[in-house]
Amino acid sequence: MPALLIVLDGASDRPVKPRGATPLHDAHKPTIDRLTEEGSCGMLDPIAPGVRPGSDTSHLALFGYDPLKYYTGRGPLEALGAGIELGPGDVAFRANAATVDEDLVVVDRRAGRRVSSEEARAIEEVVSNEVVPLLERRYGLRLLYKQTVEHRGVLVVREANTSSVTDTDPHKVGAKVLKCRPLDESAQTLASLVNEFTELVHKALKRHSVGSSRSPPINMILLRGPGLMPKIEPLPLKYRMRGAAIAGVALIRGVAKAVGMDVYIADGLLGTAQDRYEPGVRLSVDLLKKYDLVFLHVKGTDSAAHDGNYELKVKVIEEFDRALGTVIDAVGQDVYIVITSDHTTPVNVGDHTGEPTPIAIYGPDVVKDDVSKLSELTCWRGALGRIRGIDLMNILGSYMGLTEKFGE
Ligand code: ZN
Ligand code: ZN
Repeated sequence: MPALLIVLDGASDRPVKPRGATPLHDAHKPTIDRLTEEGSCGMLDPIAPGVRPGSDTSHLALFGYDPLKYYTGRGPLEALGAGIELGPGDVAFRANAATVDEDLVVVDRRAGRRVSSEEARAIEEVVSNEVVPLLERRYGLRLLYKQTVEHRGVLVVREANTSSVTDTDPHKVGAKVLKCRPLDESAQTLASLVNEFTELVHKALKRHSVGSSRSPPINMILLRGPGLMPKIEPLPLKYRMRGAAIAGVALIRGVAKAVGMDVYIADGLLGTAQDRYEPGVRLSVDLLKKYDLVFLHVKGTDSAAHDGNYELKVKVIEEFDRALGTVIDAVGQDVYIVITSDHTTPVNVGDHTGEPTPIAIYGPDVVKDDVSKLSELTCWRGALGRIRGIDLMNILGSYMGLTEKFGE
C-alpha cells in the first residue's frame, strides 16, 4: 500500500496575539482537516526538541536519514537539485555571480540579483572554456561550473575527497573577497585551486565583458558552503520504498535525489507563494500507482512566513487544500497520507524556530483520535503523541508492511 507524504514547508507557526491563533488554525482547509479527523495526529520535532532546522536537514530526517550523520552541507544537495550528477568524493560549492571593485571589495554579492538566462549562459561559457581547462590541467582534477537560478550557481570539483576549506564569499558588502584557506593538511590543493579559480574567473569575466553593459556588472564568482557528496544508502535499500518526489525548490529536489528518489517537476510548482497546486497534486496521485512513497513539497507557506505575511500563509494553505480536495476521491482508501511541515516558521519571526510541527497520518489501521483539525493548538492531544522527523519512515514502513523486524 503506497503512501503520500505532503510537506507544507514552514507551515507551522506560533500563536499570534491577540487571538492566539495560527495560520494553520485559521485556514479553512476542509480536506486536510477531514484527513486529520479520520487519522492519527501528533506533534513532530523535525530534528530534536528545540533544534531550529533548515529545510535541507529536516527533509533528510523526514525521509528517514539522520542529518547529524548524513548532512554534509548545502552545496552537494543544491548541485543534485540543479540536475548535476555527483559521485563519492565530489565536492560542491554554492556560487554567486557577484560584483567587485578593482580592489576586489564586494559591491554586490548577487550582481543585482537579476542575472538573465543569456548572462547566465555567458558566465558558464567563459568559466567552462577558459578557467576550467586550465585548472584541470594544472591540478589533475575534473571541474564543472553551472549557473542554476538567477545569480546562483554551483562549482563541482570531482573526487577532491575533502571539503575542509573556507569560503571566498565574505558574506557582506564592503569586504574584500576572502582567500580560501585549508582547514587541514589534506585540503591544501583544493584551497589553492579555489584561489586560482577566483583570480582567473575575475580576469576572464572582465576580459569578456560579461554583463558589463548592466549595472552592477558581473565580474566575480563568490564561493561558499563546500560539501562532500554524502554516502547514502538509497530509500529502496534502507526502507524498501521506491520513492518519487515533486518539488519546485532545487534544494529540496536535491535532498530527494540524494536519498534515491526519482524527481518530478509539476506545472505551476515553482516554490513561490503564488504557485498553483492542482497539477502537482494530480501528478502525485498518478505516481502513487508506480511508487511506494510519493513526496509532495509545498513551499509557499514558508515563503509567506519569511515575509511575515499571515494572510498570505493562510491563503497558501487554503489554496493547497482546495487542490487536494479536487483529487482526493481519486486517491482511494488504500493509501496512507501524511501531512506535516518540515519546521516552524513563525510569521512574527520570519525565520525557522525550534517548536514541533503538527502532523496527521491518515490510512488503514490508523487509530482515529479525537482531533479534527490540523493545528499547533490541537494536535498535542493526538494519538501519535510527540515524534521526531526520523521516526516517520519507520512508522510508515511498519504500516505499509515494508520494514523488517528488529530481533526475533
Ligand atoms: Zn523548510
Ligand atoms: Zn524557510
